[in-house]
Amino acid sequence: MVSMDMLTIKTENKFRSLITKQAYKKGEVICEIPTEKVLGKANRYTVQIARDKHTNVGKLAALNHSCDPNVILDTERLLVYACRDIEKGEELSFFYPATEWEMDAPFICLCGSSSCIHVVAGARFLPLSTLEHHFLNRHIREMMIELLENTEQHLKNL
Ligand SMILES: [Zn+2]
Repeated sequence: MVSMDMLTIKTENKFRSLITKQAYKKGEVICEIPTEKVLGKANRYTVQIARDKHTNVGKLAALNHSCDPNVILDTERLLVYACRDIEKGEELSFFYPATEWEMDAPFICLCGSSSCIHVVAGARFLPLSTLEHHFLNRHIREMMIELLENTEQHLKNL
């Protein structure tokens, strides 16, 4: 039922994107997040699923970042689902900082969205006022709280 068969990788000028061959309704599950190969360190083919776990996502590595995404990667349920209605033939994208705390290869976003974060480097580099508008996985929320507590502690010790 939920497999990656309906997803296809498109390459244009060396730029890869993930396209869906079918339409999805908001909330509908698209596929599972593969966890056969979990690493301790991030690379361009991994998605962070816990504080020190990065899973090789295979075909899903072609998912591009968007500041106004159409899918969510839920690393607790290990599912990819539509966060709005998606048409057949549309490119799928997700908000990288929703899973990535500190990215291996940061880049500048040119998505053109009015809420564009510009520098995509991981959640730890974004203000709470930006993050609060997005779905965030549990490990990201936990690390964010920890960072805030450490900062507070540090300020007290000055
Ligand atoms: Zn953007």
